[in-house]
Amino acid sequence: MLRDLAADRHAPGDSRRRNLGALLRRVHLGGPVSRVGLAEWMGVNRSTIMALTAELAAAGLVREVPATTSGRAGRPSFVVRPESEAVHVLAFDIAVDRLVAARVGLGGAVAARLEATRPRAGADLDAVVSVLADFGRALHHDAPPSSVCVGVGASYCGMIRPEDGMVRFGPDMGWVDQAFGAELARRLGLGLPVLVGNEAHLGAMAEHQRGAGVGVQNLIYLHGDVGVGGGIIVGGDLLDGDGGYGSEVGHMLVNPYQGRPCGCGSRGCLEAEVGERALLDEAGRPADHWGREAVRAVVAAAGRGDVAAREALGRIGDWLGIGVANLVNLFNPGVVIFGGTLREVFPAAAPQIRRRIAANVLPVSRDKARLAVSALGYDATLIGAADLAFTPLLTNPLVTAPR
Ligand SMILES: [Zn+2]
Repeated sequence: MLRDLAADRHAPGDSRRRNLGALLRRVHLGGPVSRVGLAEWMGVNRSTIMALTAELAAAGLVREVPATTSGRAGRPSFVVRPESEAVHVLAFDIAVDRLVAARVGLGGAVAARLEATRPRAGADLDAVVSVLADFGRALHHDAPPSSVCVGVGASYCGMIRPEDGMVRFGPDMGWVDQAFGAELARRLGLGLPVLVGNEAHLGAMAEHQRGAGVGVQNLIYLHGDVGVGGGIIVGGDLLDGDGGYGSEVGHMLVNPYQGRPCGCGSRGCLEAEVGERALLDEAGRPADHWGREAVRAVVAAAGRGDVAAREALGRIGDWLGIGVANLVNLFNPGVVIFGGTLREVFPAAAPQIRRRIAANVLPVSRDKARLAVSALGYDATLIGAADLAFTPLLTNPLVTAPR
C-alpha cells in the first residue's frame, strides 16, 4: 500500500521517491487521471498530489491540463497526463517467426514500429542483433527531436538471465548462453542497457497491467509460439523463481510414456503435446508448413468441418485442458489467459479445456477460474518489453527523467 509523504520520518527521500514512482506508474499504465482521482487512489491529500505532479511536470514526465468543462462553476479541475511525445523507450520482440522493434511513448502507445520476418533456420546472434540494431537506430533517428529515450527493453522466446540479458537457453533456436542483451546494447550505441525478459513473463505482466488480467491479482498467461511459454502471477507479482527461469509451464510433464519428444530433450512436455508441430502433424499438414498462418489455417479448416483439423484441435484441446487443470489446482487463478498462437487455438479447443476443468479441478477452484484470450494480441510481449524498459524511470523518476 502507498504511504503518505509524512508517514516515513526515517527516510523521507525514499518515501517521496516511492510516491513519485507510484504516481507516474499509475499515469503510465492507466492513462490520464484527475488530481482528485490520484489523491483517492494514493490515499494522500490534494496538496500532496499537487506537489508530486509539480515535480514530475518540472522533470518533463507529466503534463497537467484542464479537464473538459463539466459546466459547473468553481475551480477548474486538472487531469494529469503522461508526456507521451517527450519520453519514449525502444522495445524489441524476438519471436520465433518475426522480429519487431518499436518506439513506445510514456503511457504505452506504440508511436512507430518496424518488423521483419525471421527465418527459423540459421538465425544466429549476429544476424538477429544486426536486424534489431538497424531497426532501433532508425526508430531513434526518426524520433521527434524533443523526445528523449529513457530505456530499452526486449522480449525473447527463451530462458533469460535477468541481470545481463544473457539467453541461457532458447531451445527453438538452438541458442545456449548467447550474450544477447549486451550485444544489442553495444550495437545500438545509445549508452543504455538492454533489459531482456522471457516473452511469456512479459506477456503475463502486460496482460495483468493493461489487458485481460487488469484487476486480477492471481493469473496464468499461456503464450503459444512454436512451443508454449508461461507466466504465472501470484499476488500481483510474477513468479519467476530463484534465477528468473520459473513459470516454464510448457515443460510441465503431462504425457511421460507415450508423449511426443520435446525441444528441451524431454518427452511428453505440455508444449510437445499442444505446440505448433503437434497441431500441424495431427491435422495432417506437411512438415514444411509452420507458423502463425499454418495454425490459423487448421483452425479455419476445422470451422469448415474438416475432420482431421477438428480431431487435431480436439486432441490438442484435451492436452491443453490437462495442463490448465493442473495449473488451476496449483495456483487457484482468477483468470487463465491464452496468448500468442493459443489465441487462435483457444476458441476451437475451449470445449475440451472446459471439460477437463470440470472433470479434474477441485470444485472450489473450478468455480472461480475464468478463461480468456489475450486482450493485447500479438503485441502483448512487445508492450511487456516496453514496460520493462520503463521500469528504471518508474522506480526512480527524478534520476532517470529527461530533464
Ligand atoms: Zn520440454
